[in-house]
Amino acid sequence: MNRRDFFKISSSSIVLSSSTQLFAMPEDNLDQYIKDSLDYKEINIYIRDQISLKHKQCEQFSRSIINKEPLVASVDERVLLQSVSLKLKQTQKLVGYGNFNLLNLDQLFYIARNNSNIGSFTQDELKYIEKIFYTNAADYGFYGKKVTHELSDKITKAQTIKVPYTGHYLYKGEPVDMYQRLKQEVGKSIILTSGVRSVVKQLDLFLYKANKLKGNYSKAAHSLAPPGYSFHGVSDFDVGKVGLGYKNFTSSFAKTQEYAQLQKLGYISIRYPKNNPFGVRFEPWHIKV
Ligand SMILES: [Zn+2]
Repeated sequence: MNRRDFFKISSSSIVLSSSTQLFAMPEDNLDQYIKDSLDYKEINIYIRDQISLKHKQCEQFSRSIINKEPLVASVDERVLLQSVSLKLKQTQKLVGYGNFNLLNLDQLFYIARNNSNIGSFTQDELKYIEKIFYTNAADYGFYGKKVTHELSDKITKAQTIKVPYTGHYLYKGEPVDMYQRLKQEVGKSIILTSGVRSVVKQLDLFLYKANKLKGNYSKAAHSLAPPGYSFHGVSDFDVGKVGLGYKNFTSSFAKTQEYAQLQKLGYISIRYPKNNPFGVRFEPWHIKV
């Protein structure tokens, strides 16, 4: 075998990941090469070059994760983003803010179809919804876990309780118990600001945000989990200070007495702390169950 062949085989057998070896080299070829050339110096140079190549590729890979190109809707997709988003908002208005938190996909389609102001979802809109739901959130730069795996997943009212005066629901069991304990210990000035959210509700929040950000899904995913990836779908909830309004969803909440109390009592085991590795902003108001 001549030298050129050796280099061809060796470079095609470089293993870039999941191996503790820096690269794999067919030993037969190596022996053959050594016999042919008896030039160890060249082999060393070759190995050194491959090591530095691998380091460069590793660096590039981690840089591509950190500085990933944002995923932005195309012009055509913006039209779908807007039309789906509008239908979701119209449906929310029709069923009411509270009920919309638990709405499932079948119910959404049924309501839209039977209300002439909204109208059936088109095939393109359905495909778009599927695409948004089944896209790997890592493509948006969101590295949290997927907790709801099917677009058609349903949450029944029987699984939840409605928390009076909030318009929100909590899952029975640990989430309700935790909320009640927290209310008792922190006091009346703490309130549920978002509880159980169905896939439809999370889809609505995500698309609304993405639309406001000119179709930039990556930026939207930095503010909130894409549909299927929100722990509001399975257990978690948000709390705020009574009277603080929308500021409960800003860093202002972390400056309140209520937040200090929560932290002191050990309720703040934050799902997304500062500089978390999941690509999600710091959310002091989010209670992990
Ligand atoms: Zn939350």
